Amino acid sequence: MVLVGLGDEIDTYNGEKELALLESVLGECEAAWLMPEVYDALRKSMHMNQEDEKMRILSDLADRLKGKNYYVVCMAGHKGILEIPWREGRLVAPCGFGTKKQCKMTCEGEEPRDLTDIEKAELSNASEEFLYASGFLSRGQDQVITQKSHRQDQVIEQEGEVIQGKWSSLPPQVREAMELIEKREKIRAAALEYKKRCENILGTCPICGAQEVLNVVQAPKYDQRGYLAEWTRYTKWLYGSMNRRLLILELGTSKKHPELLQDAFQKMSEIHTKAQYFICECH
Ligand SMILES: [Zn+2]
Repeated sequence: MVLVGLGDEIDTYNGEKELALLESVLGECEAAWLMPEVYDALRKSMHMNQEDEKMRILSDLADRLKGKNYYVVCMAGHKGILEIPWREGRLVAPCGFGTKKQCKMTCEGEEPRDLTDIEKAELSNASEEFLYASGFLSRGQDQVITQKSHRQDQVIEQEGEVIQGKWSSLPPQVREAMELIEKREKIRAAALEYKKRCENILGTCPICGAQEVLNVVQAPKYDQRGYLAEWTRYTKWLYGSMNRRLLILELGTSKKHPELLQDAFQKMSEIHTKAQYFICECH
């Protein structure tokens, strides 16, 4: 039997600092639940070779596991993981992939439901437009803004010109702070618009009339029923692995929920007499 853990480390990429700024502003706007969509739109808009490489490795793994009795616990949000041909019903994602929607109030009457293809496409369009409206991406260049401004700075330095700009008379540190505030304001305005648009796409709960949001861990009241069936199956599978030979593969650790991944795997390898545990850090 093989237990595979995919850590949220798989989601990291080199523009992480900028993404953290988006995440913090979306959080302020009570729209953190849109973060998986934003990340997905970013992945599609940029040519992330490194990301493709990760998914290729995971596809290879799924190939090698064919015919084996395995289970995958996924803490990563990368939607490419869903496209990998894992064995049917052998993947559990406790944080959600944003492929379901839930009532914001998690009312009893309504369980998380799958998004329709139309809802998925509309969310994806809205997310891409948000990346441009917030200034995170610029048309035709597909570059993260820091990379662009870094290049502009270099050009200015080479030409030996005085930096021209709105805050040019201010000391550099103050200027940087003013620019950051301005950038944040732009993202905030775009985020509020983006949230409104996505709320319209998802509609309201048919039972209590509250707003529907994505069924992800970032939801205001995360409805864990979205992954409950797979989780129950996973715990039964684990129970059945006792006294059997078990290979544990941890691919990338989980910074956000170590208790579900590395801590749990470590414990399992200790109590399991026939387990082998391998960790592969992901950079
Ligand atoms: Zn409801």
